[in-house]
Amino acid sequence: MIIDTHIHVWSYPTLENIGDKIETAEDVMLFRARYPELFARRMTEAPIDNSDVLVAEMDRHGIDRAFVQATPGVVTNDQVARSVSRHPSRLFGLFRIGHDQAAGKYLNDPAPTREAASAQIVYCVEKLGMIGMGEIFPRAFTRHLDPELIAADLQPIMEALETYRIPLQIPTAWTQFAGGLHYGNPLWVDEIAARHSDVPIILTKMGRGMQYYFDAAMTVAMRNSNVHFDTPGTTPEHLRKALDTIGSKRILFGSDWSATWRWVKKPVDLYTKQFKLLEAARLSDDEREDILWRNAVRLFQIPQ
Ligand SMILES: [Zn+2]
Repeated sequence: MIIDTHIHVWSYPTLENIGDKIETAEDVMLFRARYPELFARRMTEAPIDNSDVLVAEMDRHGIDRAFVQATPGVVTNDQVARSVSRHPSRLFGLFRIGHDQAAGKYLNDPAPTREAASAQIVYCVEKLGMIGMGEIFPRAFTRHLDPELIAADLQPIMEALETYRIPLQIPTAWTQFAGGLHYGNPLWVDEIAARHSDVPIILTKMGRGMQYYFDAAMTVAMRNSNVHFDTPGTTPEHLRKALDTIGSKRILFGSDWSATWRWVKKPVDLYTKQFKLLEAARLSDDEREDILWRNAVRLFQIPQ
């Protein structure tokens, strides 16, 4: 069985036609700077459900199930839940809060977003049946840089997650979106991981293959047994090092497939890249099963 724990579902009409503009990972990173007008349309265009395209892609690459969350912009958790209900045996939903701000503009005062978050978490878990919190943009909830002050601002969110013991994804290194780069160095996560040791935290992309961010992610993971990594964007060397240091129970398979990333074809498409990564990291059978599905089933509490 293979479970992809990291997918952004839904798209925008403009992003359905950018195969000539995005061929490599660097093109994704620079899309906003090169085409600011196209990039900005994700705040004004009506989003479209691309989950049929996703499921066809999963079928092509032998992916059994996927955890899907909103692509940044105006996509709502209710819309993601609708995609899940159209593919109930294949897709599971993760909720996002504040993901519109990264694609648009961060609020000067993030208090209202923060204060509304707990009730939204209850709604997404109990009414929409979602199984975890997708990637957060910390700047949507805080203006602080001091880890203790960030932890104080995130406390209501962490307490809501603690109630359900469901995981939270926190991105590392860079994103395609403007601002908030400071939080890509996950050292600050140490503070929330220690205070909320019952909440599984997934440091997504484990530093995106960059040594500086990987070292920070490893330091946090070595000190906190509730900290996990996922595989998009990393290198075989970093994956092997993570396996040898924190073990295979704390690493999850993911592609980061999204409205923009899905267009990458050089040097290979996203899933081919992931499978080459696992092969180059020389996984044992046990490590492979843990990463590909066992950890996802255990952490997100879904039926096997
Ligand atoms: Zn992502």
